[in-house]
Amino acid sequence: MTDRQTDDHLIIVDHALVRHKLTLMRSVDTAPPLFRQLLRETAALLAYEALATLPTTSVQIETPMGPAQGERLAIDPAVVSILRAGNGLLDGVLDVVPSASVGFIGMYRDHDTLEAIEYYVKLPTGLAERVTIVVDPMLATANTAIGSITRMREAGADEIRFVCLVAAPEGIERLHTAHPDVTIVTAAVDEGLNEVGYIMPGLGDAGDRIYGTV
Ligand code: URA
Repeated sequence: MTDRQTDDHLIIVDHALVRHKLTLMRSVDTAPPLFRQLLRETAALLAYEALATLPTTSVQIETPMGPAQGERLAIDPAVVSILRAGNGLLDGVLDVVPSASVGFIGMYRDHDTLEAIEYYVKLPTGLAERVTIVVDPMLATANTAIGSITRMREAGADEIRFVCLVAAPEGIERLHTAHPDVTIVTAAVDEGLNEVGYIMPGLGDAGDRIYGTV
């Protein structure tokens, strides 16, 4: 069994632990404390895939037994969390790459128009040289993802990977149309969106599930 299915710029992480944790997160019986823990653990597994091809440089080191060749990250990546639900993934990504620089983009979906409204931006420096991982658990209409990535491009970001938990086919298509070179890494691709832009079967509102604000 493979642990990833790779399409053009789409990686579906097909791993027993990811499927197990996602199923628990989908369940209406899973309360915020466990949901947050599972999301953090899953984020680490998704980041492991998303960062597999980070550029490295050769280094000469000394082990207790003598000289050896090794590899180090050529440059620390950036992680940009789309507020507020992206913060549910952020610490899991930092668990596997603690040296990453972190940024935040505050965008919310207008509940009537589903348009992304920006209210806060703080991005790391040097985005043009770094691989940037954007995190947001649900890729639904993709309005927020497209708006955020456009903002990061304006700030110089070049190599961008979008990490989410669940994606809708409509969101994947829209994001790839707007930003064809962005690789999407997800645990699942669901059936599609309902009439109010929620992913079906999905897991509900990720922010509410993380922070208990229902
Ligand atoms: N945002 C969510 O949190 N859930 C969805 O299903 C769609 C967008």
